[in-house]
Formats: sequence, C-alpha cells, structure tokens
Amino acid sequence: MKVHKGDLVQAVNGKHASAHKRGRVREVFLEKNRIIVEGMNLRTKHTRGQRGVRQAGIIEIEGTMDASNVMVVCPKCDKAVRVGHTFLPDGSKVRQCRNCQELLDDPDKRWPSQTAESRR
Ligand SMILES: [Zn+2]
Repeated sequence: MKVHKGDLVQAVNGKHASAHKRGRVREVFLEKNRIIVEGMNLRTKHTRGQRGVRQAGIIEIEGTMDASNVMVVCPKCDKAVRVGHTFLPDGSKVRQCRNCQELLDDPDKRWPSQTAESRR
C-alpha cells in the first residue's frame, strides 16, 4: 500500500472527491486495503450514555474507506500525486513524488516515530 499512517491524503474517488477533501491518515488496515482518514467518511452513531464515560446521543465517527480512493499529497507540489519508490544510498526504500521527485519519507524521522507508534 502506498498510503502510510500519518500521511496527508486527498480524496480522488467516492463522495469526497468532488470537494478535493484532504485529511491525515489515522489508521491503515493493510490486509483489507482500507484506511481511516480524519474527517472523511463520517458515520453517525447513536450511543447510549454510560454514566461518567460518555454522553448519550448521536456522535460522528470516521468509517473505513478504500485506500484506492485517496492519493498522497506531496508537501512540495501541494497536490495529490502518484507515488513511486526509490532507494537511498544506504539501501533503504523510500517513497518519492513522481511529479517533482521529492522524497516523501525521511528515514531519519520515519523510523523513530513508527517505533513509538507500534508500542501503543
Ligand atoms: Zn511533488
């Protein structure tokens, strides 16, 4: 999958596509090829209050959506771009914007944050 957790993505298919809606990827489900993006695919959920825990009523939650319905937004081009792969001199594989060749993964920043997330 080309979309990673924490990426800024833009809707290119489905109900948010016409608005070019953008959001951060909150969760990735690799085996289903589905993702959860902040503010996208909201569903309303009716909840019954649990005393002291949550309010009764209707809340909005983000539903999963197909990963193919979004494209990664390149921070340099500031638009939804195709993502390719390239290799750094040290052999690590990184994603690259096919439009401006900007690297989308900084390995120095990526690895510590992924380790921190996997501990949760
Ligand atoms: Zn770019």
